[in-house]
Amino acid sequence: MSISVKGLTKIFGHHRAVDDVSFDIPKGKLFCVVGPSGCGKSTLLRLIAGLETPQHGSIELDGQRVVGDDVFIPPEDRRVGVVFQSYALWPHLTVAENVAFPYQSQGFAKAEARAKAAEHLQTVALTQYAGRRPEALSGGQRQRVALARCLAGKAQTILMDEPLANLDPHLRETMETELRAFHDRSGVTTLFITHDQREAMALADIMAVMDQGHILQIGPPQQIYAEPANETVARFIGRGTLIKSTVQDGRARVADQDIAVTGVSDGPCILFVRPENIQTGPDGWPTQVTSVHYRGSHWEVTVNSAGLDADIQLNVQQPVQVGEQLRLIFEKAWVLPG
Ligand code: ADP
Ligand code: MG
Repeated sequence: MSISVKGLTKIFGHHRAVDDVSFDIPKGKLFCVVGPSGCGKSTLLRLIAGLETPQHGSIELDGQRVVGDDVFIPPEDRRVGVVFQSYALWPHLTVAENVAFPYQSQGFAKAEARAKAAEHLQTVALTQYAGRRPEALSGGQRQRVALARCLAGKAQTILMDEPLANLDPHLRETMETELRAFHDRSGVTTLFITHDQREAMALADIMAVMDQGHILQIGPPQQIYAEPANETVARFIGRGTLIKSTVQDGRARVADQDIAVTGVSDGPCILFVRPENIQTGPDGWPTQVTSVHYRGSHWEVTVNSAGLDADIQLNVQQPVQVGEQLRLIFEKAWVLPG
C-alpha cells in the first residue's frame, strides 16, 4: 500500500519529537528514514503504526485516512506489520508455529495456518528451519522469522525500526542484502528506520534525512549524496568538506583553482566537495596531512592549508604520513542551495 503523511506533529511535553513532517511513499517502495539518535525516527514509525496519536497532521494508507480530522484507526486494523530491533518471537513455539500464529488468531484451522505459513517461510528462505525454536537460530534468521510473521499478518506495509542494529557487522551486511532481496520478492511497501547512513544508502529506493523532528531532504540516495540540500545533510551523509567560496560567471574559486558550477548565481557560497572529487598532482594546491586512516582499498586522509579555512578530506591510493605535503586538485564541487 502507499503511505501519505501530511503535517504530522507529535509533541511530548514541550518537545516536538516529530515536527510538521510530510512525505509520500509510493506502493512497493523501500523508504529509509535516516537521522541521528533522538531525532524522532521511532516516534514517526509509531505514529504510522498507530502506537502514538499525533497532535496535528494526517496519515493515509492506500488513500484511506487512518489518522487526522477525528479519525483514528487502531493499529490492528491498519494492516501494517512492525519489526522492532528485538524480534519479539514466541520462545516456546517453533519457527513454523510463530509464523502460523497470526493465521490461527485470524481463525484459520491449524493445518491451514501451517500451510500458509510454509509459503512465507519459503519467501524468507527458512523452510529448513521450520521445526526449530527461536533460541536455536542466529540473529539474522530470527529477523527473517519476524519478517515472515509480518507477511502472515497480511501486512501490506512493513515498518522496521533499526532491525539490524543488534547484529554484528558481517551479519548486518548479509541481512542488508537479504532484506533488499526480500523486499524485491514480496513487493511490500517498506518504511525502514536507521541511524546508519551507510545502511540507508545501501537499501533505499527513496531516502529521507531527519534531524530534530524535521525531514531535511527526500530523494534517491545518489541524489542526496551528490546534492545535499544543506550543511546538516552534507555533514551527516558520507564524508566531505564544506568550503567557503565565491561564484563568478559559473565558476567557483577554491584555493588557486576554478571549478565549473552550473545553475548558480554570482556571489558568496558554501561548496561541498566529496573526497573522490579531489585528486593530487604536482601542480595542485599545497596542503599538509593531519590524519590518515587505512581502509584496505585506500587511505582516508585529512589535510589543511594556510590558505584554506577548512580541514579537507580526500582518499589516496598510496600510503602517506602525517605532516607530509599533498598538492590538491579540486575537480568537482556542489554549491549548497540558499
Ligand atoms: P529516535 O528513534 O530518532 O532515536 P525517538 O523518536 O525515540 O528518536 O525520540 C525523539 C524524542 O522524543 C527524544 O528526545 C525522546 O526522548 C522523545 N520521546 C520519545 N518518546 C517519548 C515519550 N513517550 N515521552 C516523552 N518523550 C519521548
Ligand atoms: Mg529509535
